[in-house]
Amino acid sequence: MKVLKFGGTSVGSAERIRNVARLISADKGNIVVLSAMSGTTNTLVEISDYLCKKNIDGAREVLNQLEAKYRDVVRALYSSEEYVAQADGELARCFSRIRDIAHRAFGADEEREILAQGELMSTTLMYLYLQEQGKNVAWLPALEFMRTDANGEPDTHYIREHLLPPVAAQPDADLYITQGFICRNAEGKIDNLKRGGSDYSASLIGAAIGADEIQIWTDIDGMHNNDPRFVEGTAPVSELHFEEAAELAYFGAKILHPTCVLPAKVNNIPVRLLNTMQPEAPGTVIYNCSTSRTIKAVAAKDGITAIKIKSGRMLLAYGFLRKVFEIFEAYRTPIDMIVTSEVGVSVTIDDERNLHSIIDELKKFSTVTVDRDMVIICVVGDLEWHNRGFESRALDALADIPVRMISYGGSNYNISFLVQAADKVAALQSLQTHLF
Ligand code: ASP
Ligand code: MG
Repeated sequence: MKVLKFGGTSVGSAERIRNVARLISADKGNIVVLSAMSGTTNTLVEISDYLCKKNIDGAREVLNQLEAKYRDVVRALYSSEEYVAQADGELARCFSRIRDIAHRAFGADEEREILAQGELMSTTLMYLYLQEQGKNVAWLPALEFMRTDANGEPDTHYIREHLLPPVAAQPDADLYITQGFICRNAEGKIDNLKRGGSDYSASLIGAAIGADEIQIWTDIDGMHNNDPRFVEGTAPVSELHFEEAAELAYFGAKILHPTCVLPAKVNNIPVRLLNTMQPEAPGTVIYNCSTSRTIKAVAAKDGITAIKIKSGRMLLAYGFLRKVFEIFEAYRTPIDMIVTSEVGVSVTIDDERNLHSIIDELKKFSTVTVDRDMVIICVVGDLEWHNRGFESRALDALADIPVRMISYGGSNYNISFLVQAADKVAALQSLQTHLF
């Protein structure tokens, strides 16, 4: 059994819904997880915002537009009047639910209930469409099995206990359909797994049923080995280790957030990234046993500031780094790269909001230099230190580029270089030529 998750763009119009229906009908017995149609969750947030501000008319206006849009989708999607009527009826229930909530005293619970309607509507549309196509579809309501505990973490025991029975009860289903993103919390109230949470739903469902594979379908063909916006000749990466994927996540590479794939990782379930527009492309598979001794990808992160903190007092002293780190902690500023020498340490940050205060504090016990407009270039692959030659290949590629910091050995999967923004494209291009 596989879990197939489709994002909002993949189900963003009647035509796209039909396309996904075709894809998921090719195989039997899988669980399909859907996001809300693209734009819907944002619109529901907007409606909630009006309600929160007690602007009922504003909310009504946006809601009416959304309802009209869905009515058009229904007309374009189904071929029989019977299904048009049935879909209209189901959607009308979702919209009247939102209207009812609008009249209550508005708070966080009300907003979550409104947001949940997005995924309920997209899955309803798909469910009915598949039925119209003559499929035997099983409906798995996420609100009956997806749960978070008192800490807001997924309650994996509850999820298993409440998901396996309905799946087992419908063994002949061609496919099972459920909502991403939405859940109930420890109090049993409607809640969600935070924005973009449908991938997390898919991973949790995959872990609960012990899926053979979790497929995340979007509109790009997996992850590329370099940034196609700046570099020519990039190619999709066919496989990545979960750890390599985690390294790349910081770089905004089109990859899944590490927490979201954790259930898949710990249960050893491969996650495959696939393209709805090009379903035959192999995409990228992420698992625990990717090919060793290879460099997989290069990625860059802009908007980095480097801070060099020097002090004669650091030599042979202890506690210096703690003093430095406490300042960043006090200003809630995450540190990304770190390199040290005997008398100094350089760190990078990407959130400059408290830079001035941080520098003022650091200057009380050290000399501080700041370099702005920097870029982290990271090389990801099997870079375990016993392997020979990988570091030098990466360094060779950057022979003509001024490098401000180098970080290696923090994990087995990454070397990072800090360069000026002006040198970013040249660095990415040269790494592409030297490494792949
Ligand atoms: N519909 C939700 C969102 O837009 C969840 C998701 O798409 O993953 O954030
Ligand atoms: Mg080595």
